[in-house]
Amino acid sequence: MNQIELYKNLPKKNCGKCKQKTCMPFALAVIKGDAELSECQLLEPAEAERLKAMITVTDWREGLILKLRDEIKKIDLGSIAELLGGQMQNGSLVVNCMGRPFTVSADGDVTTHGHITPWVKILLLHYIRNSFNNSIAIKGMPKQTDEKWVSYAELKNGMVKAASFEREGEEPLKEMLDQNLTAVETILKRLGAVTKEGFSTPCAWALHLLPKVPVLILYWPEESEFPSKVKVLFNTYADKYLDVEAIVFLIEGLVKNIEAMSRR
Ligand code: SF4
Repeated sequence: MNQIELYKNLPKKNCGKCKQKTCMPFALAVIKGDAELSECQLLEPAEAERLKAMITVTDWREGLILKLRDEIKKIDLGSIAELLGGQMQNGSLVVNCMGRPFTVSADGDVTTHGHITPWVKILLLHYIRNSFNNSIAIKGMPKQTDEKWVSYAELKNGMVKAASFEREGEEPLKEMLDQNLTAVETILKRLGAVTKEGFSTPCAWALHLLPKVPVLILYWPEESEFPSKVKVLFNTYADKYLDVEAIVFLIEGLVKNIEAMSRR
């Protein structure tokens, strides 16, 4: 069953009660393995089960992971461990992502204690590959400071993807903060965020999503006629460690992580 066939079997109400908001992108998300049929609020459980049995999920992420692993196999992880803020243990690279340690073996297998999602694997493999490809430029950079922040659009090629960054990252983050500021702030702090001062909002948190990729999240709650707003800013060198597509992925991952932690 493909996207169109699945769409024809959905309630087609475009009610906005699932994360995709309308039925056609929901059908695509299910086919890609990014959403479960049970997330459709209007689909009877029995019908969801019937359709599920007819769907072959094409998880594009597994193919991408294999491709990235082939690239990682050619890299001497020990030569770039320090550069990307990791350390070597028993021939593997250990690197933190959102406060959790992950181990990357010489053949690019990514493991950790507990559950690991495909997006974390892709992100870490991107991080290693880009750090290696840009290692000469990174070594030549002046001493880094976490305090010089730039917008996503100011990163290399950021203008091209700025709309997706806003749609996939800043907008869902804003919605979560609008719904429960205290809960999201608590989760951010569990991920290692610290409150920053000196901005036009008290809701300013900095955290390292990857060792060399700190981000600054600024949130302005709704006030009289001004709607709420979120800006996610980066260290000026973020684009040496991740390309702009991977940075969108990074913030999407943060959003998914907050969603998952808020359900526990
Ligand atoms: S919840 Fe179901 S009916 Fe509503 S928009 Fe999503 S897929 Fe369509």
